[in-house]
Amino acid sequence: MSLTRVGVGKVRETWVDPRDEAALLVVATDRVSAFDVVLPELVPDKGRLLTAIAAAAFERVASDVATHLLEVATDVPDVWLGRTLRVRRLAMLPVECVVRGRLVGSAWESYQRDGTAFGRELPRDLDFGAPFPEPLFTPTTKAHVGHDLPLGPDELGELVGERRARELADRSLEVFSLLASWFDAKGLTLVDAKFEFGLDGRALVLADEIATPDAARIVAGDLGQNPQWLDKQLLRDWLVAEGFRGEGPPPPLPSDLVGELRGRYVTVYETLTGRSFDEWPGSAD
Ligand code: ATP
Ligand code: MG
Repeated sequence: MSLTRVGVGKVRETWVDPRDEAALLVVATDRVSAFDVVLPELVPDKGRLLTAIAAAAFERVASDVATHLLEVATDVPDVWLGRTLRVRRLAMLPVECVVRGRLVGSAWESYQRDGTAFGRELPRDLDFGAPFPEPLFTPTTKAHVGHDLPLGPDELGELVGERRARELADRSLEVFSLLASWFDAKGLTLVDAKFEFGLDGRALVLADEIATPDAARIVAGDLGQNPQWLDKQLLRDWLVAEGFRGEGPPPPLPSDLVGELRGRYVTVYETLTGRSFDEWPGSAD
């Protein structure tokens, strides 16, 4: 099988599907990034976990929104088994469509200062982690290098056109609400999530990965004062405590931290699907 690679991201690589030029194989590696830096350590099984979670989530929303997922690819080299999605190849829009459901992080900080989050006035007396009255659509640029920058409503319109901007907001909020109810039913909280969309002709299609701990912030149970994060928060907190925020060489990750991180991704997969990750195809890098 002759393969042409068309993209190498921080975590995933994209290849033209040798069977169908209109499709891509998206291969998730065990790489982990934080503060937009790829760390030297691998997290065993992470690529298969991302693939398993994203596949389950795309299947979950497929009856409501068009998605790029064709199938979990099985006709691939052994090393790619379980880590490869076959997807429709799209013209990606250069936007990260972020939706936020809960008052945490920088939103919580600004709320305590002046009662707003992302420029929106919020009701008084909300607690840390409270749901926003409505989830907030806070799109950013998709930077090829470095950090993504917030896009105001006018800026998004300038980038993709007014109609498309409204469609991106509506579709992102719709997918967020579908995923949030699914998480809720499984005893998880979807705190916020990032979506990417692409165009197939003029049709808007949900792409990339969704609902994974790399593309979302996820908590076990309710938020409470001390949320039990099931995403990369643990890693970010540890790096910050070591004085790393994306500049200079990252400190080496202790193996128990890597193991704990892997365990959290497994918990997300198993809690959402009710299946054992042991049964997912393939093996670690
Ligand atoms: P990060 O997500 O950490 O910012 P990255 O965006 O550099 O990293 P990855 O997420 O590792 O890259 O790689 C996936 C790449 O594939 C992204 O550039 C994404 O926009 C692109 N992609 C996802 N789905 C499709 C699709 N259906 N058609 C074309 N490109 C896609
Ligand atoms: Mg990406």
